[in-house]
Amino acid sequence: MAKKTTITFGTPWLNEFCCVCGRSVRPGSGLFANRIPDGNSIIVRAEMGRPYPEGDFVCAECDGVTSDD
Ligand SMILES: [Zn+2]
Repeated sequence: MAKKTTITFGTPWLNEFCCVCGRSVRPGSGLFANRIPDGNSIIVRAEMGRPYPEGDFVCAECDGVTSDD
């Protein structure tokens, strides 16, 4: 009996939503194409004042309005 491995499209170890607006950036969400991975940890994002620090991405819209580089 072979073990069945479930492969899901996407990256289950990432929280695929925007840490600024909280919207999903998953494939098909409309924000997937231009999402920017946020390399900071949840703690750092919280310290930066991100409303949704669990999100591992910043969507293109929020990247355009935030200026914290
Ligand atoms: Zn956003």
